[in-house]
Amino acid sequence: MYDERGIKDPLTGAYSRLFFDQRLHEELDRASRYAANLTLFVLDIDHFKSINDAYGHMRGDEVLQQISDAINECIRVSDLFFRYGGDEFVLILPETSKQDSEKLALRMLDAIRTRRFSGNPPLQITISIGVASCPEEGADPKVLFEAADRRLLEAKLQGRDRAVSDDLCHGDRAGDLELNRMIERDLEMKAVQDFLTALE
Ligand code: GH3
Ligand code: MG
Repeated sequence: MYDERGIKDPLTGAYSRLFFDQRLHEELDRASRYAANLTLFVLDIDHFKSINDAYGHMRGDEVLQQISDAINECIRVSDLFFRYGGDEFVLILPETSKQDSEKLALRMLDAIRTRRFSGNPPLQITISIGVASCPEEGADPKVLFEAADRRLLEAKLQGRDRAVSDDLCHGDRAGDLELNRMIERDLEMKAVQDFLTALE
């Protein structure tokens, strides 16, 4: 067994990204050897930057801890939870079929959406999830991760607070996300301007 102290992210208690590649490789090896299912989630907090911007980095850190707690409450002890970087997390779900993982994803989205994240003020937060499974996507760690990451982008583009487990669209989705973010920022600016005009 590993010594957990060195391999955990100190802020959230999730496993560090350093061990993700190795663990995914091992778990996929096991899954293909025993013809078992495995599902990978790539999760990202929606509009996390705006929490830092509005309430400061320390509140942002608290939210990262609280989100990790909420995710841990939804998973099994055999599931492996990693902080991949920033506000992005990864879950390796051994012995979990794509179908079963869809139920888990919905439960997790719901648990986070309905939770009030304590602090001043309490916050309502959502996450988006990209899902990829073995055997559907094969047993190559890189292919599986890329599929989940691509679907996370798709979940963001479709409006966030959702899980995507299939490839639905093609084209320059990263470019589309950047454009969407610019439009969202313009709409926020317009709302502020309208508010200030109304005050005058
Ligand atoms: P989206 O819904 O598209 O994911 O929007 P977003 O604002 O969550 O996405 P973005 O990737 O632009 O923002 C992630 C932010 O996370 C930016 C970075 O400053 C912040 N961040 C990264 N690591 C930490 C950390 O350890 N603590 C805090 N408080 N913030 C962090
Ligand atoms: Mg984010």
